[in-house]
Amino acid sequence: MPAARIIAVANQKGGVGKTTTAVNVAACLAASERRTLLIDLDPQGNASSALGEVKTPHHVYSALLGECTLAEVVLGTDLEYLSLVPAGPDLVGAEIELVNSEERERKLELALASVVDRYEYILIDCAPSLGILTINALTAADSILVPLQCEYYALEGLARLLETTELVRGSLNPELALEGIVLTMVDLRNNLSRQVEAEVREHFGERVFQTRIPRNVRLSEAPSHGLPILLYDIHSRGAVAYLQLTEELLTAHAESQGVSTSSQTAPAASATSGESLRSGGNDERTA
Ligand code: ATP
Ligand code: MG
Repeated sequence: MPAARIIAVANQKGGVGKTTTAVNVAACLAASERRTLLIDLDPQGNASSALGEVKTPHHVYSALLGECTLAEVVLGTDLEYLSLVPAGPDLVGAEIELVNSEERERKLELALASVVDRYEYILIDCAPSLGILTINALTAADSILVPLQCEYYALEGLARLLETTELVRGSLNPELALEGIVLTMVDLRNNLSRQVEAEVREHFGERVFQTRIPRNVRLSEAPSHGLPILLYDIHSRGAVAYLQLTEELLTAHAESQGVSTSSQTAPAASATSGESLRSGGNDERTA
């Protein structure tokens, strides 16, 4: 199998839908039979609990420190094609403990090397910071997927994130692409939300996914049941939106590889550039 496409789901702003996006896109990829690994790289461990993680002594941090291999901390989930590398509270110490270690930005990249050909997609759920863990994710990744909540300071935060991405590209990972920006928790009745969306689309054009993720209470309930939205309520607007977002992502990869896009079951792509993303269309499903 060719190497997995590694996608870091990142935004240093808290509570914008990173975990919800990482968990549910990973689940949708798995549901379409793409072997997918979700890595929880946030000490909060939200992605792990959202998938109903069972208690386990070893977490991602053990693999970052080289105490075990990443393969040894992989857990199965309710979906056959979805695996999870959980985070534990020990990850809090990473920011401090990694400071003096050699190649501290490349710990995740090194750990991933042994599993990268076992999956088609690897998604990394980042913490709301631009600290050493997120830098590790951006260094290991092929692309960055940015969930953006349409609110007043959204664009300012985004500018900072893109600056950091530029820095990483300039030094640690020249190939890092922008997978795209996805608008989350969208409420079309809200004027500010519509205004910010228009601005984001004007600014970033086709790098913004056409699919919007609506504000949907089923999406916020699913994690407390330890289930991705597909298994919790497949008919909810949230599930439909994440399926559509995943389809958009797969189509873009297939196109960038010159593969026919008509089939959901086409072999998964591991495109080399995520820059080729979609136009700012309108998706009234979320109304
Ligand atoms: P953090 O920065 O703390 O890691 P995050 O960016 O990962 O947060 P989430 O945890 O995905 O954000 O979402 C924040 C909260 O909003 C959660 O309670 C989640 O269930 C809820 N939420 C996320 N997306 C939606 C949505 N589309 N509709 C309704 N609630 C949502
Ligand atoms: Mg999170």
